[in-house]
Amino acid sequence: MDRIDFRSDTVSWPTPAMREAMALAKVGDDVYGEDPTVNALEELAAGRVGKEAGLFVASGTMGNLVGILAHATRGDEMIVGHDSHVMMWETGSVASLGGVVPKVLVTDEFGRMPIELIQSIVRMEDVHLPCHRLIHVENSYGNKGGYPIPTDYFAAIKDVASKNNLAVHMDGARLFNAAVALGIEAGQITQYVDSVTFCLSKGLSAPVGSLLCGSKDYIHKARRVRKSLGGGMRQAGILAAAGVVALDKMVDRLAEDHERARRLAVGLSNIAGIQINLDMVKSNIVFFKLADDVTLSPQEVTRQMREEANIWLGTRGSRGFRAVTHYWIKTADVDVFLDVLEDLLQR
Ligand SMILES: *Cc1c(COP(=O)(O)O)cnc(C)c1O
Repeated sequence: MDRIDFRSDTVSWPTPAMREAMALAKVGDDVYGEDPTVNALEELAAGRVGKEAGLFVASGTMGNLVGILAHATRGDEMIVGHDSHVMMWETGSVASLGGVVPKVLVTDEFGRMPIELIQSIVRMEDVHLPCHRLIHVENSYGNKGGYPIPTDYFAAIKDVASKNNLAVHMDGARLFNAAVALGIEAGQITQYVDSVTFCLSKGLSAPVGSLLCGSKDYIHKARRVRKSLGGGMRQAGILAAAGVVALDKMVDRLAEDHERARRLAVGLSNIAGIQINLDMVKSNIVFFKLADDVTLSPQEVTRQMREEANIWLGTRGSRGFRAVTHYWIKTADVDVFLDVLEDLLQR
């Protein structure tokens, strides 16, 4: 890449192996179900998460929207965390486009909704009430610094869902980061959910695309929803080819991103003027803050880092930052980052 870019793992460029696979991809019309590369990717993806079928979609946002609307319809309720990605960063589309009513619960420090609370609010059938249809969960949890939530929580979610006849959808945009961080296979997490969406275009480095996976019947329905949203793509095998490389070659190496995030976090904890909670750095995202006595604003810090060292960094809240590691961030980049930041704060 032409810069050191910590703003997100979405900024990662496709790898040379991906560009080669894209150039050589066999294609067909995917709306007719005739793109062999898309079909191969969907099958591969479903296998990785232990589901019967997969659907290639344009983005994680589309994966969640299609995924939710294939479970729930207008006036149905979805139980969801207050700071989940779908509630905060997806334009409210489940409500504005889908008419699904979010039942928002406050999550704990790791991104979990209280199970007892879910059980206590599930509605009985009544002509006055919206129907509870769905529980929405997320892993790793973006707004908790990419925290990988262990599987016992999802087992408990599945339990309360089955007792109350609810479906469970997982926003697994960084599912494979969660799995690698927990030292388990992705399928051990997704065994507890009916549907899951994950991104190819974040840590897995593909240029475009996400997958939605679930049962055959569910994906059949989801395919219609995707079409209705304008997400039926034609010779999408060009894009899916990169996705196949992403799933084959880029999953296990996420451990390197996690090591670099850890190195970054530990380095930050040794810089005067920086506050960080090392216990929350478990995958590829690092949240940290300026101490109260630092006079620079986060915006001034990011601007100077960009101008002086071509290091790009995102701010978060009034005093904070978010740094994300990915394939194009090497260990040396982490060390340069730490040196430049320390120097800047010492001036
Ligand atoms: C990035 C992200 C999404 C959405 O993915 P896009 O491809 O950017 O639309 C959804 N959920 C989580 C948790 C994410 O981090």
